Amino acid sequence: MNNAEALHPATTVPVELGARRYEIAIGAGLLAEAGKRIKPFLKRPVTAIVTDSTVAGLHLDALRKSLAAEGITSRAIVLPAGEATKSYRHLAETCDELLAAGIERRDIVIAFGGGVIGDLTGFAAAILRRGVDFIQIPTTLLAQVDSSVGGKTGINSPHGKNLIGAFHQPRTVLIDIALLDTLPKRELAAGYAEVAKYGLLGDASFFAWLEGNAQSLFAGDAQSRIKAITKSCEMKAHIVTEDETETGVRALLNLGHTFGHALEAATGYSSRLLHGEGVAIGMAQAFRFSEKLGLCARGLAERAEAHLRSVGLPTRLADIPGDLPGPEKLLEIMRQDKKAVAGKLTFILVRGIGEAFIARDIKESDVLAFLAEEQA
Ligand code: NAD
Ligand code: MG
Repeated sequence: MNNAEALHPATTVPVELGARRYEIAIGAGLLAEAGKRIKPFLKRPVTAIVTDSTVAGLHLDALRKSLAAEGITSRAIVLPAGEATKSYRHLAETCDELLAAGIERRDIVIAFGGGVIGDLTGFAAAILRRGVDFIQIPTTLLAQVDSSVGGKTGINSPHGKNLIGAFHQPRTVLIDIALLDTLPKRELAAGYAEVAKYGLLGDASFFAWLEGNAQSLFAGDAQSRIKAITKSCEMKAHIVTEDETETGVRALLNLGHTFGHALEAATGYSSRLLHGEGVAIGMAQAFRFSEKLGLCARGLAERAEAHLRSVGLPTRLADIPGDLPGPEKLLEIMRQDKKAVAGKLTFILVRGIGEAFIARDIKESDVLAFLAEEQA
């Protein structure tokens, strides 16, 4: 980048994917420099921003101002906030609006929002004119540490979540931690579940660091936010580099997700349970299930759970308001998970903190017994 000297310092995490290599820039106040940082990627000074109504109300002016300062004209496409936007209808609307905005094959589209906007925009970019490039400016903690990195894009089908999609890597990711200042605490905690996940799945010392620093991270301390996000992005980037299309090790990122997805489905993807909250319960369950199967030492589930609870995350089925279906029904939902292979259930289980592994062929009777215990 030839104008780098004019920019604030940012931490850079490379995602080494050969021809699709890109960098994630992490810092405070990067939104104000978005124009400078994006300009080198553009073939002409034109772009389109896809965002949601909440983010647009809070931060769109700042982004457009920063682009305009570099002479970049932008069309904004503002979609409704919420998971329901990851739909065929809004995909079609987004594609048509991008075409109406005059986006050409060599232009770049900006995804400016949480995981919903990132997933939808990335997928729209993947299919628009058989593929245009896109840039992620994630605005939730979940999107900053998870969904904006790794190139999974897509929408939901009436048959299930994320069933229609493509792998499409962004050209770059700009993470401005200042955007988190407007994020509701519940959303911050939900995103934090994915941060804790990286420690729990693969790095015990990172988890220990989180135990000591989560409170300052939640209080808004910039250094601890940058460190936690940087470490999370590094771990995700590393795993994605090893296994871009999830044929192996990338599945470790699903720690807490088999249980979590079943709970999200059982609660109708409603505000009863945010994705990260489902993951927090799911991770606690993965630890408890691992203990029960004798795979990891007793007491570790309690430690994982205590940390998640300390930041206000749920860890038990009883934490979910309202009724849940019974063990049989939850198991049936898990069988329909797209990660099921030939009907066999795959779980990510643990041998310890930071020692997750892929457990194939878990016996349904063991799962049922465990779920019955959880609901007792
Ligand atoms: P989201 O995009 O719905 O954002 C959550 C809420 O926060 C929304 O209401 C949004 O308007 C609001 N918001 C966003 N930024 C804000 C800000 N800075 N200040 C105030 N409010 C703000 O949800 P999410 O949790 O970011 O992402 C969830 C989605 O991500 C799911 O659809 C999930 O499937 C997907 N996901 C994808 C991947 C992947 O690898 N592609 C990984 C994990 C999750
Ligand atoms: Mg997740």
